Amino acid sequence: MKTILKIDISIKDICEGFVYNELEGKGLFGLSGKLTIQPEYQRNYIYASDGGKKEVAVIESLLKNYPIGLIYFNKISENNLEVLDGQQRITSVGRFVTNKFAIKDENGMEQYFGGMAKDKKDKILETKLLIYECEGTESQIKEWFKTINIAGVPLVPQELLNAIYSGPFVTLGKEEFSNSQNANIQKWSAYIKGSANRQAFFERALDWASKGDIDNYMSIHRSDKNINELKKYFNSVIDWISSVFTDVESEMCGLEWGRLYEQYHKKAYDPKKVSAGVRKLYGDPYIKNRKGIFEYVLGGSVDTKLLEVRVFDEAIKKSIYSTQTAKAEAKGESNCPFCVIGHDTNKSKIWKFSEMDADHVTAWSKGGATAAKNCQMLCITHNRAKGNR
Ligand SMILES: [Zn+2]
Repeated sequence: MKTILKIDISIKDICEGFVYNELEGKGLFGLSGKLTIQPEYQRNYIYASDGGKKEVAVIESLLKNYPIGLIYFNKISENNLEVLDGQQRITSVGRFVTNKFAIKDENGMEQYFGGMAKDKKDKILETKLLIYECEGTESQIKEWFKTINIAGVPLVPQELLNAIYSGPFVTLGKEEFSNSQNANIQKWSAYIKGSANRQAFFERALDWASKGDIDNYMSIHRSDKNINELKKYFNSVIDWISSVFTDVESEMCGLEWGRLYEQYHKKAYDPKKVSAGVRKLYGDPYIKNRKGIFEYVLGGSVDTKLLEVRVFDEAIKKSIYSTQTAKAEAKGESNCPFCVIGHDTNKSKIWKFSEMDADHVTAWSKGGATAAKNCQMLCITHNRAKGNR
C-alpha cells in the first residue's frame, strides 16, 4: 500500500462543495466534488448526537490551534478520494461552516459561523489538515481501516463488520435497519436496546437470523442483492413478541428475544392470560429480577430461579436462628425441625448459624411472604432437599 502525507489541504478546500444530507444524517461530498466523505463502509455521522458536544469540541480545537488529528483518504483515482478515517471530524467542520450548528463564544452566546468575526472565520478556514492519502487494494485498505479505527470513538463491532463485509447486502441492511427515519424504529426500540445509527437494530437482526454467528452470516450473504430473508426473520421475531406480550414493559428492552423466539415460538399462548400473569408478577414485591418474568411466563411459570425471589435478610435469619435454637436447647432436640423428625444421629444436634439456611415455610410460588413469620432455619442438607422438591 502506498501512502503520501499531505500538509497543504486547508479546511476551506475540504469544505468546498460540502453537502450534508439531513435525511440520512451523512456528510456526503467535499473538496470540490473530488472527496466522498461517507463511502458505504463508513458509519453514520454520530458527532451531532449527545447534544453535539463532540462536533463543538472539533470547532473549539480549531480555534485554539489544537490539532484535530490525522485524517486518512483512500485514493481511488486522480479525481476521486474517499475518507477512510476522519469522516466525523470533516462532517463536523463542514456542518459548522454551513451554519448547521453554533458554538458558544467567550460570553456564552451562541455563535454560528456566518456571524463570526472575519479573523476567526479565517482561522478556521485556513487551518491545514494532516492528511494521509493511501492507495491500495480493497483488502489492504479494509485491514488498515480496522487498525486505525481502534483509536478515536471506537467502532462498535457491527460497524467494523459493516466495513469488512461492505457490499450490496450491507448497504440494503443499513437502509432498512440503520436509518433513523424508519417509522418502525419506535416499535423495535421496545425490545431492542441502542440506536439505529450505532447499528443496534442491524446487529440484532443479523444476530437473530444467524443464531449468533453474525460474522459468518455476513460473509455468506455479502453479495446478496436483497435482504428478504433477514427482514422476514427479524419481523417474525418482533411480531411474535408483540402478539404474545400485548403490554410493553421497559424490562422487555434488551432481552435475548432471538433465543426466546427459537425456544418458545411453537408453543401456543393466550395473550390475555399471559398479560394477567405478567401483571401479577409485576405487582409482587418479592421478585427482584423483573427481566426474568417474561421467560418465566413463556416457560410455563415453573423456573422461579429466573425471578430471583427475594431471600431473607441477615437480621431476620439471625433472629429466627436464636429463638429456634433456644427452644430446641430447652427441649434437648435439634434446632433443625426436619432433623428432629428424622431417624438419624442428628435428632438432637444443635447446628451453628453458618450450618443453616433460611427457608420459606410456605413457598413463594404458593403465596408465602419473605417475612419473619414465614421463615424457618433448616440445616443446609434439609434446606437443599426441600428446595429441590
Ligand atoms: Zn436438618
